[in-house]
Amino acid sequence: MRSELAVKREASATWQRRAIEVMPGGVNSPVRAFRSVGGNPPFAESGRGAYLKTVDGDDLIDFVASWGALILGHARPEVVEAIENAARSGSSFGVSTAAEVELAELICSLVPSIEMVRLVNSGTEATASAVRLARAATGRPAVIKFEGCYHGHADAFLVRAGSGLATFGEPSSPGIPASTTAHTRVARFNDLDSVAELLADGQVAAVIVEPVAGNMGCIPPLPDFLPGLRSLCDTSGALLVFDEVMTGFRVALGGAQGRFGVRPDLTALGKVMAGGTPGAAYGGSSELMRMISPDGPVYQAGTLAGNPIVTAAGLATLRYLAEHPGIYERFESAGAECSLRLEAVLSEVGLPGTVSHVGGMMGLFLGIEDARNWDDVSGLDQDLFGRFFGAALDRGVMLPPSPFEAWFLMEDHLDGPLAAALDALADALRETAE
Ligand SMILES: *Cc1c(COP(=O)(O)O)cnc(C)c1O
Repeated sequence: MRSELAVKREASATWQRRAIEVMPGGVNSPVRAFRSVGGNPPFAESGRGAYLKTVDGDDLIDFVASWGALILGHARPEVVEAIENAARSGSSFGVSTAAEVELAELICSLVPSIEMVRLVNSGTEATASAVRLARAATGRPAVIKFEGCYHGHADAFLVRAGSGLATFGEPSSPGIPASTTAHTRVARFNDLDSVAELLADGQVAAVIVEPVAGNMGCIPPLPDFLPGLRSLCDTSGALLVFDEVMTGFRVALGGAQGRFGVRPDLTALGKVMAGGTPGAAYGGSSELMRMISPDGPVYQAGTLAGNPIVTAAGLATLRYLAEHPGIYERFESAGAECSLRLEAVLSEVGLPGTVSHVGGMMGLFLGIEDARNWDDVSGLDQDLFGRFFGAALDRGVMLPPSPFEAWFLMEDHLDGPLAAALDALADALRETAE
């Protein structure tokens, strides 16, 4: 059954025509422009629960979930009320508030490796600050990241691997001098040998990793990968930094480190922890965090850091999760159900592909049978994905508009909308295979 939903999107198209005149690509973050799937991006009018209502009047079952920042659902009453109360009491001060302390305490109690935390405004800021701290703590210059992992848009992270495993990362964006990425080394996800090689000269301050890769689909770590990184770092004296901006409070209440039992030295958080508002954090042992200004010499600051509206939304979200930890088992079984169902349809219709899930994160890889690292994922069939994406949107399901993005579950998906979405996605796969 193919509905007329979202087929034209005329109101969105009108806004997009105005948008492209005044914002690059018409957007404030590139993937929103739908360049890899084609067509006009829908404009949101409102959200409720699992549904995003567009300015065209369509109600879409939403798996973008603000790129993972929403875990309960759109406009959840608990969070809305907290934000309203905070806004009424003043939207920003230049002094500390009690809510900042409460949020910091809650994060320290929930994330195994965090004893002290600093609140910031974006995931980009959190990872960049964590790496600055790691460099200061070790007195070493180099950083190892993994091909296909995303840590925000700070200069040092915008590198691509050169031929083989390049010792020096080559900038992947103009505007970044090669000297800025000269200390960024690129290893292969799920490949410990590639890391050992890059650690050998003793110049590495930090190994930064998404413990579940979520910016090249959803790729779980192989069982020995995270423990192996821990011991390689211990041997070499490099700090292990988990970028849990996406996985924090999403793959388990204690994040990936809680789930897999591996403790990083430093952790970056964002997305879920701010309940859909612009907030993030980084933290680690008290010993390391006391190196941050004004306790220590490592400078890092923010005019709006710890903002009352952000802390209110974060506290409401994290308190709800802490009080309802069963949500993670429900995500797990929902993810498993989605994987089974979609894989069954893939083989029924004869499309090559594989589905992965970890907690409230999922990935559908069309065109490849194995997804362990960037080498695998770079074989994705983008054209096939574009057609599937359009067929899903026509049936009222909003997927992230790129084959390299993870899909996100929200609590409000679990009763009802998810079953409806699976039926629509199954139909969309059948249409894609025709
Ligand atoms: C989203 C994301 C970031 C960047 O966070 P922003 O708030 O967009 O700056 C960093 N790391 C990971 C793993 C992310 O998913």
